[in-house]
Amino acid sequence: MPISIAAAPDTERFRAYGVRHVDELSRRFAIPEHIARSVKALGAVLPFRVNEYVLSHLIDWDDIPGDPVFQMVFPQSGMLPAEDERRLSALVDDPAARKELRLAVQQIRDGLNPHPSGQKQLNVPTLDGDAVPGLQHKYRETVLYFPGQGQTCHAYCTYCFRWAQFVGDADLRFAAPSPEGLVDYLGRHPEVEDVLVTGGDPMIMSTERLRSHLGPILGAPGVRTVRIGTKSVAYWPQRFVTDTDADDVLRLFEDVVASGRNLAVMAHFTHPRELDSDLARRAVARIRSTGAMVYCQAPLVAHVNDDPRTWSALWRAELAAGAIPYYMFVERDTGPYEYFKVPLARAHDIFRSAYLTLPGLARTVRGPVMSAAPGKVVVDGVAETAQGRVFQLRMLQARDPRLVGRPFQAHYSESAAWLDELRLVGTTPPDIAAALVGVRQPAGGQPA
Ligand code: SF4
Repeated sequence: MPISIAAAPDTERFRAYGVRHVDELSRRFAIPEHIARSVKALGAVLPFRVNEYVLSHLIDWDDIPGDPVFQMVFPQSGMLPAEDERRLSALVDDPAARKELRLAVQQIRDGLNPHPSGQKQLNVPTLDGDAVPGLQHKYRETVLYFPGQGQTCHAYCTYCFRWAQFVGDADLRFAAPSPEGLVDYLGRHPEVEDVLVTGGDPMIMSTERLRSHLGPILGAPGVRTVRIGTKSVAYWPQRFVTDTDADDVLRLFEDVVASGRNLAVMAHFTHPRELDSDLARRAVARIRSTGAMVYCQAPLVAHVNDDPRTWSALWRAELAAGAIPYYMFVERDTGPYEYFKVPLARAHDIFRSAYLTLPGLARTVRGPVMSAAPGKVVVDGVAETAQGRVFQLRMLQARDPRLVGRPFQAHYSESAAWLDELRLVGTTPPDIAAALVGVRQPAGGQPA
């Protein structure tokens, strides 16, 4: 059924809206007062940013608050515990309670596990004993690079596992002031073949700025692949079509490809509606015309896309646009996790039900995948064994390369939503058990 989406010109200039614009947005889009109040209260803790394109092209205002895109970008009731929500509601409207509000916000954020999977401790590389800011090195061949000017997004996702990047707390932020540290690191780590430029969203930068970060990477002879993690194709496809430097960014992509590197745009699409837009499909086509590949990934999140029909439609739309379905991620244990989490058993059901509707070319997709401290773990299935019902799991990627591709099993659970809620079976190989620190070990056995 067609939905009522307000029209907006394709050539509009980018304009972002935040918590201070909630009253203006309420008037424009007839947001009921109780919903607007929740947005203001929860928006004090969770980052909130939306833009004209998302407001006018993607949200069905006749269906709020249940509309999936409204859920995706507007902090709202239920995303935090009721007691926190009450506390924030009481404080946000009271100008005399500014100090108390700051304290409450800090306390609530601290309780939301701002850096899941040990990122702050485990993945920070060093040079001569000093941490290199804005870099993460978890898997042998891949370095993540967070350019300092690319640490915002065209809109923020309420379920973002990097939400802590956006709340103005320098301590919670990864950001490289310049590519110098990265280049130095790459020079001393020839095993790194793949640089993932990420954020935030690197495509928030002007083309000139983006070039100043990508250019030096191309000087590293060992780098074979440059990846750019972005949701701009969904949230601001104008970036590749009508922005004043849209053509320049295509030239930049062509230059990366001409250097002999594989350029992969890791596009984040959460809902098929994001690809209903002609502008988004044109953006994908223009990116592909440069020789870049477009891979698609997104988390499975309750209230937004926890339905096999949604994923089937999404993966089909990606394939039709010429992009490659790549990952369905399991939502990470951070931020409003309780609101968005989907148990692994259900996640596997959704994945498989959607997967079996797909044509072969879309079965490039993998999932559901947990990007956890020891590596990426995929739930391959559920099996009945002599030890009872189990999850069949596999290390898709691993901090220890020797574990990549290795299968293992954990006891089945209807409710477990993350690796550390599982219990390994007794026959788990000791090296895998040792890598899965935090996962309950088999009875009577300890990791070697
Ligand atoms: S676009 Fe990506 S980094 Fe930005 S808020 Fe959404 S999930 Fe997070």
